Amino acid sequence: AATDPTDRLIYFKGAFVPACEAKVSVLSPTSQFGLNVFEGIRGYWSADALQLLLFRLPEHIERLFQSCKILGLKCPLGAEELEEKICKTITLNRYQEDVAIRATVFVDEEGSWSSSEPVQVFIAPMPRPRTNIAAIEGKSACISTWKRIDDRTLPPRVKCGANYINGRYAFLEAKRNGFEIPFLLDASGKVSESPGACIFLVRNGELVTPSISNSILESITRDTILRLALDLGIQVRERDVDRSEFYIADEAFVCGTAAEIGPITSVDRLPIGRGKVGPITTSLYEAYLNVVSNANAPYPEWRTPV
Ligand code: PMP
Repeated sequence: AATDPTDRLIYFKGAFVPACEAKVSVLSPTSQFGLNVFEGIRGYWSADALQLLLFRLPEHIERLFQSCKILGLKCPLGAEELEEKICKTITLNRYQEDVAIRATVFVDEEGSWSSSEPVQVFIAPMPRPRTNIAAIEGKSACISTWKRIDDRTLPPRVKCGANYINGRYAFLEAKRNGFEIPFLLDASGKVSESPGACIFLVRNGELVTPSISNSILESITRDTILRLALDLGIQVRERDVDRSEFYIADEAFVCGTAAEIGPITSVDRLPIGRGKVGPITTSLYEAYLNVVSNANAPYPEWRTPV
C-alpha cells in the first residue's frame, strides 16, 4: 500500500497522479481566498471482511453538494461519479489499514473570490488509525472569547475552507491560555461547536447537543451518535445549550469524522463530573467504533465496502 504520503496517488482534475504532482496556482481562488468546499471521510479496515469500509459516504457526498449549492459552485462530477472516484482512489493505493480521505471541490486557475469557475475536484487519502479506546483520555476545554460565524455572515453548515479561520482564532487563544479545545458560542451566546467537531454533554442521564440552528456544521458523526444513543436507550435532546451547563454536567465530549469521540473532562478549569471519562461517553464510543469498523454491525447502509 502507498503509505508514503509523497508517492500515494490522488485524484486530481480528472486523473490519478502522485500527490507531489498535484499543484494549483498561487493565484487561484482556492489558494488565495479558501474558495473550496470539502469533506473529510474515514475508511476503517475490517480485518474480518478484508475490506475497507467507508463510513456514510453518500451522506458526505450529499453534504458536499449542499455546500456547492450555497456557495454557487457547480461540481464537475455527479454523485455517482464522485463515489466511484473516491473508491477508485482507495483501490489504486491498495490500502489495508484505516484511512482518512479529503474530497475537495475548488475554484482553480487565476481568479478572485467572485470567480465561480473553473471548478475542479481532488480526492486525497492518507493512513489514519482509529482511536485506541483503551487509551482515551479526557481533554481540557475552554469557552472562547471568539464567537462562531453564523448564518448571516459565513453559514457554518457550508463546509468551506475559509470558514476554518474562525476556528483558528479560537484555537490559538485556547492554546495561549493552556487549554486543548475551545468551545465557541453562537451569536446569541448559546454553545455552538468546537473548531472541527460538534459538542455533546450528559446531564441526569440525558444526552444533550446544540441544535442545527446554533451555528454548527450539520455533522454526520453527531447524527450517528444521536441514533446510536437512542438504540442504547439514552434520551437525546437537541436544544440551546448554556455555557454554565458544562460546569454542572456529568460528562461531555466532542465528535467528528476526524475526532471520532473526544472526551472532555474539564471546561474553564472546572471538572466535568468526577473529571474522568464517563460511562455514557465510553458506551457511545464502543458503539461508534463497532458501527464504523465492523462489517456485521447494525446499519449496513452506513458502510460502503471497497
Ligand atoms: N464541525 C466542524 C466545524 C467541522 O469541521 C467538523 C468536521 N467535519 C464537524 C463539526 C464534524 O462533522 P462530521 O461529523 O460530519 O465530520
